[in-house]
Amino acid sequence: MQNLLHNLNSEQLAAVTLPAQSALILAGAGSGKTRVLTTRIAWLIQTGQISPQSVLAVTFTNKSAKEMLTRLSAMLPINTRGMWVGTFHGLCNRLLRAHHKDAGLPQTFQILDSSDQLSFIKRLLKANNIDDEKFPPRTLMYFINGAKDKGLRAAAVDAYDDTDRKMVALYDLYDAQCQREGVVDFAELLLRTYELLSRNQPLREHYQSRFKHILVDEFQDTNDLQYKWLKLMAGNQAAVFAVGDDDQSIYAFRGANVGNMSAFEREFQVKNLIKLEQNYRSHGHILDTANALIEHNSKRLGKNLRTDAGHGELVRISESSSDIQEAQWIVEEAKNLMREGSSGSEIAILYRSNAQSRVLEHALFTAGLPYRVYGGQRYFERAEIKHAIAYMQLMDNPHNDSAFLRVVNFPTRGIGARSLEQLQDAAKQYGISLYAAVPYVSGKAGTSLGNFVKLIEGARFETHNLPLPEMVKVVLDISTLLIHYQTEKEGADRIENLEQLINAATLFVSEEGYGHAAPALAGPPSQLAASLLSAPDGIQIIDADAALPTVMSPLSAFLSHASLEAGDNQAQAGQDALQLMTVHAAKGLEFDAVFITGLEEGLFPHENSAKEETGVEEERRLMYVAITRARKRLYITFSQTRMLHGQIRYNTRSRFFDEMPEESLKWLSPKVQASWFGNKKSAWDDAPESGVNAIAQGFAKNQGGSGWRIGQGVMHAKFGEGVIVNIEGSGTNARAHINFGQFGMKLLDLSIAKLDKI
Ligand code: ATP
Ligand code: MG
Repeated sequence: MQNLLHNLNSEQLAAVTLPAQSALILAGAGSGKTRVLTTRIAWLIQTGQISPQSVLAVTFTNKSAKEMLTRLSAMLPINTRGMWVGTFHGLCNRLLRAHHKDAGLPQTFQILDSSDQLSFIKRLLKANNIDDEKFPPRTLMYFINGAKDKGLRAAAVDAYDDTDRKMVALYDLYDAQCQREGVVDFAELLLRTYELLSRNQPLREHYQSRFKHILVDEFQDTNDLQYKWLKLMAGNQAAVFAVGDDDQSIYAFRGANVGNMSAFEREFQVKNLIKLEQNYRSHGHILDTANALIEHNSKRLGKNLRTDAGHGELVRISESSSDIQEAQWIVEEAKNLMREGSSGSEIAILYRSNAQSRVLEHALFTAGLPYRVYGGQRYFERAEIKHAIAYMQLMDNPHNDSAFLRVVNFPTRGIGARSLEQLQDAAKQYGISLYAAVPYVSGKAGTSLGNFVKLIEGARFETHNLPLPEMVKVVLDISTLLIHYQTEKEGADRIENLEQLINAATLFVSEEGYGHAAPALAGPPSQLAASLLSAPDGIQIIDADAALPTVMSPLSAFLSHASLEAGDNQAQAGQDALQLMTVHAAKGLEFDAVFITGLEEGLFPHENSAKEETGVEEERRLMYVAITRARKRLYITFSQTRMLHGQIRYNTRSRFFDEMPEESLKWLSPKVQASWFGNKKSAWDDAPESGVNAIAQGFAKNQGGSGWRIGQGVMHAKFGEGVIVNIEGSGTNARAHINFGQFGMKLLDLSIAKLDKI
């Protein structure tokens, strides 16, 4: 038997081996919170105190859930596959699938991801003739999600004026329409489970007595509903083990409530509050930088972090003249790291805003470096994949109107707007789904729509006995999506993506343990007879573990996976690629080398938060999270200009630089550009580290290709005469720094700006 405890320090050991009572572990980044939590699960099981079935562990992302299961299987000789380790959403999905009837949902309910939800709301507003300028869809979406995150249905939301009342009414309408279509949004997964367990005593007691230990990672980012959910799940019996760091609370904008930590201490009668103060992740200068920065926040619970790892390298700071140059500098530096033996997957490039990734991706792509983007346009969010998924959704639940509208005329089959209008009228008149309303449409429109229904029914019939990957193959074929993209100009990529869906399905069945021989569509409910468990008061409860294999077909499971776990691009998994993600997405992760980009006022701290001090404090916590991802080497970059949302912005460097200890920083100098601006007082080092010459050479090459050259006189409609002083980027990405005399230096996009040579 493995000794799980020998690698722990004394505070960690105390935390891992606490008695079965509720406990709070409050500790800074990299102090081993996640490791302690995982080890505690293993220790409880190994020492025979509990069985794997009595553990409920909540993680913040699917990626961390997977990692936790992998670590558990390495520590214990058990099959961890069926364990209840997952995100709030994932775990709720599992419960609702098993108890869909009690929860008032169809067996094949489907999950709307955020973009589905937004289009759903747009459609709802249109169908009800609501002015979407007065009630912008996005605002309504935030309103609905905000209410749900607090655990409030429309009837319970306070409305103070007519606009509020209308929003509440729309929320109600939205819920009713979701119910009609058999779809749920992310927040609904939690709220529905919460309501189900509140109302259904036998079910509640069953799960309360089953889950004797509940463990929650990243507790500081739970929202009100998640906290209530945990209280309900725990009842009076479970020991709740919560780990968190108030300095890493970065989801207030989504309703996270760091006050849950003190509420937890009080309401769960926490006797054991353990602090971990040794950091095992980062070298000294990195840690000092993080500590000094976060000290500028006022509301902190207070804790210290120390390391034995030694000072290590200084934190490198680099300034660029533009975002393009910043990206090129990062690429060069990353190449150096890889030449020195770093693996790509140990290098992370972090940014505050998703919009920053395009320029970075372009530079990486041009340099031929493999990279992987987390978040952003995800595999399952690509249009062609959404189309294929919509066909499968209709086969599984034909009443999903969103799926219906997405593919009823894609690829085109002569079903126009007029036909759809007729169909929508009929559906409204009878209060049924579009699919169900097809027989009520007559004439030519009726025939085309009828053919579409036949196509879906045919696909259902042809695939109902097939394993999932085979089924995907048939769907791609019958839907004619592949043929459609063969004729499209840039269809090759899309075809490749669609073909990967078969691989994704194969991987899914093997990882999730759906046997290849199992039919993809759910079997008849009569199969449910298996393993009935007795509830405390004698009522028969079918536990989710017993019910799932029969009520959740591989298809339903795969479709939930596509909505819930969209973060991973399966195709790229396993490749040794640089890791690109927002700082938010990097929470809990660690890398040997980290680049934090765009440290400029307005971007980081973000302008939306800079107005209020609480906003700046949240941004500072975000920066603290970013810094503490790095083990050995940290770069922080900023740029004088940046193209964001189609506009060039002139930036000053972030206030956060003034809050970091000068003795831990090393300023690198890309000298090439210092002279164009000539106005910066700088703490430049003499020796440029790298990348600079390559960039300079890049400029020389680029100018030739674009037809513009440095020194060229130009005329601009607004700024008048100017001289090009530098060119960067190439093709449609080419931009020039132009000195317009009295208008000063401008950075213009050469493919957009109307410039004449003079
Ligand atoms: P975060 O706040 O960023 O989520 P954390 O507190 O969860 O961080 P972990 O990710 O659990 O920290 O641990 C950070 C790193 O330190 C991991 O690589 C972990 O394996 C290592 N580590 C933790 N405890 C020890 C220990 N006692 N000895 C050696 N390494 C350790
Ligand atoms: Mg952690």
